[in-house]
Amino acid sequence: MNDSRYDILFEPVRIGPVTTPNRFYAVPHATGHGWNQPKGAIALRAMKAEGGWGTVVTQITEISPDSDMANHPMERIWDDSDIPRHALQVEEVKKYGSLAGIEIAHGGMRARNLTTGYPVIGPSHLPVLRPEIPAQAKAMDKTDIAAFRKAHKAAAMRAKKAGYDILYVYAAHDLSLLNHFLSPSLNKRCDEYGGKFENRLRLLREVLEDTLEIAAGKCAVALRFSVAEPEKPGGLRHDGEGRDVVEALAELPDLWDVNISGWPADSQSARFSEEGYQLPFTDFVKSVTSKPVVGVGRFTSPDLMVSLVKKGRLDLIGAARSSIADPFLPTKIREDRVEDIRECIGCNVCVSMDAYGLPIRCTQNPTISEEYRRGWHPEAPAFSKRRQSHLIVGSGPAGLECAHTLLKAGQKVTVAEARKVPGGRVTREALLPGLSSWARVRDYRLHQLNQSPDAELYLASHLSADDILEFGADTVTLATGAKWRNDGVGSTCFEPRFVSGHDVLSPEDVMDGTLSAEHASRFIMYDDDNFYMASVLTEQLCKLGHQVVYVTPQPMVATWTDFTLDQHRIVERLKELDVEMLVNTQLRDNQEFENLLSGTKTAFTGAKLVLVGARLPLNDLYTQLCKNTQLKSLEQAGDCVTPGTIQSAVLSGHTIARKILAGNPGRDFRREQTID
Ligand code: ADP
Ligand code: SF4
Repeated sequence: MNDSRYDILFEPVRIGPVTTPNRFYAVPHATGHGWNQPKGAIALRAMKAEGGWGTVVTQITEISPDSDMANHPMERIWDDSDIPRHALQVEEVKKYGSLAGIEIAHGGMRARNLTTGYPVIGPSHLPVLRPEIPAQAKAMDKTDIAAFRKAHKAAAMRAKKAGYDILYVYAAHDLSLLNHFLSPSLNKRCDEYGGKFENRLRLLREVLEDTLEIAAGKCAVALRFSVAEPEKPGGLRHDGEGRDVVEALAELPDLWDVNISGWPADSQSARFSEEGYQLPFTDFVKSVTSKPVVGVGRFTSPDLMVSLVKKGRLDLIGAARSSIADPFLPTKIREDRVEDIRECIGCNVCVSMDAYGLPIRCTQNPTISEEYRRGWHPEAPAFSKRRQSHLIVGSGPAGLECAHTLLKAGQKVTVAEARKVPGGRVTREALLPGLSSWARVRDYRLHQLNQSPDAELYLASHLSADDILEFGADTVTLATGAKWRNDGVGSTCFEPRFVSGHDVLSPEDVMDGTLSAEHASRFIMYDDDNFYMASVLTEQLCKLGHQVVYVTPQPMVATWTDFTLDQHRIVERLKELDVEMLVNTQLRDNQEFENLLSGTKTAFTGAKLVLVGARLPLNDLYTQLCKNTQLKSLEQAGDCVTPGTIQSAVLSGHTIARKILAGNPGRDFRREQTID
């Protein structure tokens, strides 16, 4: 350790009978692997331990078959056959001196039991908390409550046998039976488990006591609790019953792991919240309990972390996304390499993958979920047989990641960029409202390039095919990006319908900054892309004083942003900006809309049309060069292959670099086969 400013973050903290070696705490989060891909999940968590996270906790681990969350791939500890898998996880995490925790949980009215066919259970006879599933929960009778407590104790015992240091009691995110009993809107009971606060709290208290009994002073017991539900009408408040719960149970658990609920409130994207956004809700907890407190809020700044501990707002710095984006964040702080931290940009692509039930992806960390599958390490250099010179054309996320990965492997790299500024699309998009943190994708990689004597970056250098051949590098990678179409082709229309012109614009026309406020106009923002772009451009135009009507053929505004938990906030933001929103509305050739439900057609006149649909890969150079026999190695990476997310461009750049280094396409994915 070089920098004593951060010493406090490396102090051990006692958690009941166990001690965590430092204050970096990787909280439970879904990995998209779950019980059926244990090797992937274990390798992902072990990487965090290797990277210096003093405590690493598994995601929701179902205690019994009547808490079956499939198709969502959670962990399971249903019976003794689950123990060896967990024991292996514990071993891999502890290998690095970290504590291993487990979030044992029952999903209550959030379980689906689609695989097991058991009744969903909850405090009352009400529909399950998945509106898309036509099922109801059964109000638990006393026998059910006793069976649940027994199952929770049995699961805690199995977790203890597996060797976990910290056993969780989970009452957060509206994803837990214990939450559901606490909630007056879900708990309509008239017995001692319903009605007044003490009654609704009863089951949580009992389960906490049960778990402490099982732990028996050998492992710690953590309570994960959402102190507020700011987005739920009538939900818990941190200055109401949320606080009452903490006061009532203050000294019972060995650790308070606190956050806000539901998941969209907990995992807010950077577009809508700043680092530390949960603190105003959670930081009262330290004043109520003497037990250690861990909290989250997309923390990436070591100075903020230090101040939180010094000011007594938190004891442990909790992280899900920051630990995904950089599993080695603690090590980098310890080694005084803060500039090397790959800071989470708050884009929630990780969340979107989890929503599909797939191993998570990350915009900043292309190696996440590939630790086992492809043997990738976020820090160790990829293997290379010899040192070569590499030319990369384009300095967007794909080009910069490719360059960075090659440099790390000791290669000589030149990056040529046509524009005067590096960063490609992230530089442009980071200037849009709410997206400034996206520049971290560029800044982290540029910093790595700037540190290396083997890197050269030439700006304002538009290369032709001849320039590239003349340069004479051993390998050439084209990462030349894509451009937005302005002919109407998009996710629901595969035929060009518009001729570009004065009144038909692409996203780039809006981003280039020439639509000044001086000539306030009316715009139609047509979203046939469904991600963030149309809504962000709408904000941008409104800020310049223009009037915008947002139109989409989808039944929802910015449909795909539901996966990044942004959709409802986007609608609120557009409402605040007085944007008229037309859904289920398709643009037709003759400059009119058609409402897809009613068939009503409406002409629009006097408005400029911004078409946000598909993009075209910029691959002319590749077409020209691929027939050339002079080039020993020619690759393409990122949007110039398939236009997609920034995350997919980074992953592509990384994958191509590894392919170049290995001299072959690399090994296939290792797959986990589940035969007993
Ligand atoms: P990706 O997301 O795949 O990284 P971007 O669009 O972000 O793609 O970045 C591509 C970059 O490539 C842009 O900054 C663009 O200016 C640059 N570029 C495109 N063609 C050339 C070229 N012929 N010579 C140098 N740079 C180029
Ligand atoms: Fe952060 Fe985005 Fe990575 Fe998630 S995907 S950890 S939000 S950078």
